[in-house]
Amino acid sequence: MGVDWIVVGAGFTGATFAERMATAGRRVLIVDRRAHIGGNAHDETNAHGILVHRYGPHIFHTNSEAVWRYLGKFTEWRAYEHHVLALIEGKLVPIPFNLDSLAALLSKKAAARIESALINQYGFGKRVPILKLRTSEQPDIRDFADYVYRNVFEGYTLKQWQLRPEELSASVTARVPISISRDARYFQDNFQAIPLHGYAEMFRRMLEHPNIAVALDYDWKRSMVKGRHTRVLFTGAIDEFLDYRFGPLPYRSIRFEERTLQKIQHQPVGTINYPNDYNFTRITEQKIITSQRAAVTTLITEFPRSHEPGRTIAYYPIPRDDNRLLYGKYAAAVKAEFPDVCFAGRLADYQYYDMDQACARALKLASELGGPARLEARP
Ligand code: FAD
Ligand code: UDP
Repeated sequence: MGVDWIVVGAGFTGATFAERMATAGRRVLIVDRRAHIGGNAHDETNAHGILVHRYGPHIFHTNSEAVWRYLGKFTEWRAYEHHVLALIEGKLVPIPFNLDSLAALLSKKAAARIESALINQYGFGKRVPILKLRTSEQPDIRDFADYVYRNVFEGYTLKQWQLRPEELSASVTARVPISISRDARYFQDNFQAIPLHGYAEMFRRMLEHPNIAVALDYDWKRSMVKGRHTRVLFTGAIDEFLDYRFGPLPYRSIRFEERTLQKIQHQPVGTINYPNDYNFTRITEQKIITSQRAAVTTLITEFPRSHEPGRTIAYYPIPRDDNRLLYGKYAAAVKAEFPDVCFAGRLADYQYYDMDQACARALKLASELGGPARLEARP
C-alpha cells in the first residue's frame, strides 16, 4: 500500500508519532526489527506467570499533564510510587539519600548536626545534586557530601558508565539528588503509575488504528526512502543510520538476569541498589512494581556492560560534551543528506529520555508536522 509516513521503531517515540499522524488521517507504516512493539518498554508474562519488563524495570512518572492525558487514552493506570533502598555499610537506606538515610548511617549527634547544617543552608524539602553539594563552602556539608559521593555515587556510577560522576554531564547524577526531607519516593512527579494491563497492551491499543500497518522482525534499510515520496521518522541509533561514518557513538548496554523464587515477596521495596558491592547495580522485584498477586516472585538483576554495535542493545546514550559533539556531526550530516527523514527518540536524539520525554518529543513533532491540533476527547 502507499503510505504517507514510514516510522522506524515502535517504542514510545515511534508509536506516539504513528498514532498521532494516523489520527490526523495519514497512512502510516511502522516497522521494528524486534518481534514486538513497545521498544524498551515492552513487557510480557514469563514462564512462571509473572509480568516482566523485558528490557529492565520501567516505572512511568511525569509532570506533563499533556503526556498523562494522551497515554490515558490507551490505558487505565494503577497508581504506584517507586521506593529504592541502597545497601551501604551493611544497612539498607533510602535512595534518593535523605535525612532518614543520614540518621541510619551516622551517630545521632553527627546526623543532627549535619541535618541542621543542610536545612540552614538549603531549606527543608530542597533537593541538591551531589556534585553541587560537594562544592559547599561549609566543611561539615562538604565532608558529608564526600561521604555520600563515595558511598552512593562513585561505585554505582563506575559500574553503570565506567566513568566517575564528574566525567559525565552533571544532569546524570542530578537525576537522583540528595533530598533534604523525609520523602522516600524515588520520583517526585505529579503523575506516577503503571499501565493497569501492562505496557504491551497500551502499545497494542495505540497502534490499533485503521490507518496504521505494523511490520515486525523488519530491519529497515535507508534504501527504502529512495524513489518514494514518503516521509520517514527514524527512531533508531543515528550513528547506525549513517553506517558509523564518523565512528560509533558510545552507548552503555545492560545484561538482565532474571530469577524466580518460590516465595510471595523477597524485597521490602521495588528496587535495591548495590552501589559498592558486586558487579551489578540493582535488583528489582517485578511484582512490587506491577502489584501482581502470585505465589512466586521474579527478580531482575542489572549488570551494566559495554555496548558492541550489532551484538548488544544500545540502552543508554552517554551524556558527555565530547559525545554531544560527535552526535552533532551525525545530526548535521543527516539534515543535509536526508531532508525527508526526521530523527527523534532516545537513540536518534542521543538523549537520556525517560518514557514521558520520548512521548512528549513525539507529540511535539507530530503537531509540527500536521498531526491533530489538540487531543480528542475520550470516546
Ligand atoms: P526505544 O524504546 O529504544 O525504541 C526504539 C525502537 O526502534 C526499538 O524497538 C528498536 O528495535 C527499533 N529500531 C531501531 N533501529 C531499527 C531499525 N534499523 N529497523 C527497525 N527497527 C529499529 N524510562 C522511564 O520513564 N522510567 C523508567 O523506569 C525507565 N527505566 C528504564 C530502564 C532501563 C534499563 C532502560 C534502558 C531505559 C529505561 N527508561 C525508563 C527509558 C525508556 O526505556 C525510554 O525513554 C524509552 O523506551 C524511549 O523510547 P524510544 O521510542 O525513543 O526508544
Ligand atoms: N546513581 C548512583 N547511585 C544510586 C542511584 C543512582 O550513583 O544509588 C547515579 C548513577 O550514575 C545513575 C544515575 O545516578 O546512572 C541515574 O540514576 P537513575 O536511577 O535515574 O538511572 P536509570 O534508572 O535511568 O538507570
